[in-house]
This record gives sequence, C-alpha cells and structure tokens, in this order.
Amino acid sequence: MKKILLILSAILGFTFTGQAKLKVVATLPDLGSLAREVGGDKVDVSVLAKPTEDSHFVDARPSFVVQLRDADVLIDGGAELEIGWLPPLLQNARNPKIEVGKPGRVQASQGVRLMNVPTAATRAAGDVHALGNPHFIVDPIIAKTVAQHIAQAFSAVDAPNAAAYDANYKKFEAAINAKLQEWGAAMLPFKGQNVVAYHDSWVYFAHRFGVNIDTFLEPKPGIPPSPSHLAEVIEKMKAQKIKAIIIEPFHDRKIAEKVAGATGAKVVEFAQYPGALPNTDSYVKLIDALVARLSAALK
Ligand SMILES: [Zn+2]
Repeated sequence: MKKILLILSAILGFTFTGQAKLKVVATLPDLGSLAREVGGDKVDVSVLAKPTEDSHFVDARPSFVVQLRDADVLIDGGAELEIGWLPPLLQNARNPKIEVGKPGRVQASQGVRLMNVPTAATRAAGDVHALGNPHFIVDPIIAKTVAQHIAQAFSAVDAPNAAAYDANYKKFEAAINAKLQEWGAAMLPFKGQNVVAYHDSWVYFAHRFGVNIDTFLEPKPGIPPSPSHLAEVIEKMKAQKIKAIIIEPFHDRKIAEKVAGATGAKVVEFAQYPGALPNTDSYVKLIDALVARLSAALK
C-alpha cells in the first residue's frame, strides 16, 4: 500500500497529506540544486538548462513554456544572465505568478553586489556581462545568500511549510560553514597565483579563495577568441608563469589546448553547474570538485 501511495504521490505531485507540492522552475542547474536543498520534499523542482549548457545561450525547447506556465515559483539568475533566451519563453507562458516583483519570482542577483560592472569606457559590443558579472553562485557565501532568498520566497508562497524551508536552509548554511575552512585550507598554498579561464565565470570563486582569474581566452565575455588576443594571452602566461587554463564543457577545448601547448600550462575542466562533472550532484560536491581540480593543477 505504501508503495502505491509513493508512486501516486510521485505521479500527481501530492504529498501524503494530500497537499500539492510547490511547482518550482529553475532556469539553471545551480539554482535548481539550491531549490532542492531548501525545498526538500515539499517542492517539485524542474530545471530548464542542462548542466553542460552555456547559461547565456540555452537551447530553448517548447516544453519550457509549459513548465513556466504551470510554475508556482520561478528562480532565475537575474543580472541579464538569461536575457538571450528567457524573456520570449515568459511572454508565451503568460503566468502572472512568476512576474518580476511577485512572491513567486526569485531573481538570484537581488541583494548580490555584482563584480566587474563595465563602465562606458570598458563596455564592448556583444559583451554578455553588460550589467556586471552574473556568475556569482560559485562563491559559497553568495550561494548561502541566494538559498536564504529562495527559502523566503518558498515561505511567502507556501506559508504552511515555512518552518520546513527555514530548517532546510539552516541545514544548508551549516553544511557550507562546515566546509569553508577545508576549502580555504586547500586553496591557501596558491594564494595570489594567476589562473587563466576561457570565459569570465570565476571572478567570485577566485575572490573567495584567493587566486586571480582575470585573464581570459575570450577577449570580452561572449566574444570568441581571436588569434591576436590569444597571442597576447600566451605572452602574459609565459611572463607570469601561469600554470592552469580553466574551461567549461561548452568551450572549445582545442583552443585551450593550443594555448596550453604554447605555455606548458594544464587545461582544467571546470563547471558552474552541479551534475556537469563526475560526482557533483550537489552544490557542496561541486565546490569540492573545483577546489580539488584547481589545487591539483597548481601544485
Ligand atoms: Zn558569462
């Protein structure tokens, strides 16, 4: 009987008390992961982008509109991270519950101080970080803030379960706090080292863990590497003895390998999204993997 109830509750999205689970849509897998931590068994989370996709250029499918139409809560990154693909989907979904300003809409960037906000002088055509760098969730302290924001939104939309959301958030906060020292200690020997990345996705991670990641294979965020820019990067890497080039699953690995070949650096596979690398099905495991991979490359 219990098994049948379990199957029924999974199909219908109801808990045993007969109460409907909160339908949560997250644009990206990191936001989905935080939503699951905070929502536990009170929510059904669906994530639009795949962990291996570029968050700026997600391949929008018709099923996304259906998911957005049915959502009680939408969590997006904000700071124009999804501006290239989310707005037309929202227009088609016509769901007033998830409009900006409604309790059912969480924009992760609210309350986050964005780094690298371009000035009139540094802004370039095609720069996909025009409002500032939107890749902030890889800083675990910012991830706590975003998770708290999600807990507040879930409580506002689903007040009867507010205590559960708050308790789940506190559990996540404690898990991060318990890990911060370990991550910091693993990265400490590399304090001040320069690292190259394909795309400017790691400024918050770098800031948290004391490395500098401010040289990129892309000349500006979202603009493909050019031979002249790569030649400059190679010169800089040789001069600064840079040992690692960070790439993500959707980047052109061959370009990174050419630069690595010319400089003796290692290519390090990184990812912003839980599930994109082996054994990273939670946020904490993802940061574990990033710290392990980068510290191994810099040794
Ligand atoms: Zn970006």
